[in-house]
Amino acid sequence: MKRTCFNTELNEKNVGQEVTLIGWVSKRRNLGSLLFIDLRDRSGIIQVTVNEGVEAPDIRNEYIISVTGKVSLKEKENPNLKTGKIEVIASKVEVINTAKTTPLIIADETDALEDTRLKYRYLDLRRPVMQSYLDIRHKIKLATHEYLSKEHFIEVETPILTLSTPEGARDYLVPSRVHHGKFYALPQSPQIFKQLLMIGGVERYYQIARCFRDEDLRADRQPDFTQIDIETSFLDQDQFLTMMEGLIKEIFKKTINYDVKLPLRRLPYKEAMDNYGSDKPDTRFEIKLQDVKDIFANSEFGGFKDVEAIKAIVVNNVASITSRKVIDELTLEAKKFGLGGLSVIKVENDELTGSFVKFLSEAEKSALKAKLGFANDDIIIIAAGKYNRVCPLLGALRVKYAKQLGLIKPNTYDLLWVVDFPLFERDVENGAITSTHHPFTRPRDEDLKYLDTDPTKILSYAYDIVINGYEAGGGSLRIYNQDVQKKIFTVLGLTDEDIKRKFGFFVDAFQYGTPPHAGMAFGLDRLTMILGGTDNIRDVIAFPKNLAAVCPMSLAPNSVDEEQLKELGIAITDYEK
Ligand code: ASP
Repeated sequence: MKRTCFNTELNEKNVGQEVTLIGWVSKRRNLGSLLFIDLRDRSGIIQVTVNEGVEAPDIRNEYIISVTGKVSLKEKENPNLKTGKIEVIASKVEVINTAKTTPLIIADETDALEDTRLKYRYLDLRRPVMQSYLDIRHKIKLATHEYLSKEHFIEVETPILTLSTPEGARDYLVPSRVHHGKFYALPQSPQIFKQLLMIGGVERYYQIARCFRDEDLRADRQPDFTQIDIETSFLDQDQFLTMMEGLIKEIFKKTINYDVKLPLRRLPYKEAMDNYGSDKPDTRFEIKLQDVKDIFANSEFGGFKDVEAIKAIVVNNVASITSRKVIDELTLEAKKFGLGGLSVIKVENDELTGSFVKFLSEAEKSALKAKLGFANDDIIIIAAGKYNRVCPLLGALRVKYAKQLGLIKPNTYDLLWVVDFPLFERDVENGAITSTHHPFTRPRDEDLKYLDTDPTKILSYAYDIVINGYEAGGGSLRIYNQDVQKKIFTVLGLTDEDIKRKFGFFVDAFQYGTPPHAGMAFGLDRLTMILGGTDNIRDVIAFPKNLAAVCPMSLAPNSVDEEQLKELGIAITDYEK
């Protein structure tokens, strides 16, 4: 059973050649005198034909077989297969191993529930589409290693058992057996270590790094995930972003052969929020948020009085399908964003209609028309209230409509930088000041004066790369002055004692010749999703957790032996049975 090549390495040029292939039986059709087998290996599927007279053992789906035979042209091409023009006419078929009937259909289209797929992940991974995700992931890493090495970066590993790294999520903790009552934290990112590597003279670092964050899971979030983590010394923002654009261009080229046009657009955070209601705007479609506050300066409508923001979006060609029920659903959406409701106006037969129209004066109607330029069958959705609620709501609605109406062309990529983020933001719930990125982000020099007076006014040297509405990566220039770093910690509510205990070693290091430095991290999983064309992060991770943070295959997390707990000095008081 000496395999001569992978299935999809064969094409018309190999016709007449004798080959030996090994793989799994994906499908078989027995026509009595003739047996057709779809043979699958990692590269893909090829058809094998076993003619009468050739001894064919009993073969079932997912058996592993080896086939020796001649490559031959097919009479009729199968356009669904990469090898669709050819087949292998078997002269010998051997069974290498048998298989039980599998609990899920092993094909790109499978009707298995996701938890079944995760429970039998080793079978799910045999599906060609899953193999393609693994392949893209590998190619991204390879392109990264090649590009960054060429730019004089070196890969350095940083600890997994470490202490808390502040990225704003909850830590995963690991109890110490040797020091009872003490815990390591798993890194939320290598942030502190990569900065220390800059102080350590490494100048250009990267790492394909595992990161761990204990937060609520979503379609694009996993508790353990992978970053392409990067840090450099002595580059300004422009030089650094240009270098990173080179990396992203190379990744797109080498994985999906797509040419990204450089330089990428740099969109200030404020403009992103004003126009798209999101700091990760999808700009592949046109619907934009429009400011209509001035139009309603003298409005009689109670909901528009003394509000911070009044904004509108226009959605074309949906008035006729916007029923009362749809409007009720939109209102529910607004409530989720903390707003009382929203106003929906339809344009029908050149008239504005809907229950809200009675609040509009003629002057307001014509001002709206002039500003928004709507047409028949459009709807106008207006939201009023706090800027930080109005923008995200309309931002979410523009995306929802774009998806629903198919406004996004498939296989198009929209890449941009969002820059000039605020350094701090206020927690919507409790008003506390938190870092927008993380506490090591450098404030803009001209805004340092607000540190003592109004820190939320400060903009930062932070940037995110946004691809098709996903935050695919982000980073910043870093603080490299001990006093500024301590000051930021203080604004974030840390006492001198806290700073010393949590970050003492870090701020101390700043005293010994710290280079100006900058960096960022790309989400490897998200990049793979985007390039692989899936919106489920679990598809691009070989062994992921489900939305309850459980691995349905290994059943982690699980309970442990009393003995192990004793060694760790841990007693569980509140068991979840
Ligand atoms: N550590 C940051 C993050 O994980 C990225 C960076 O600032 O380099 O988001």
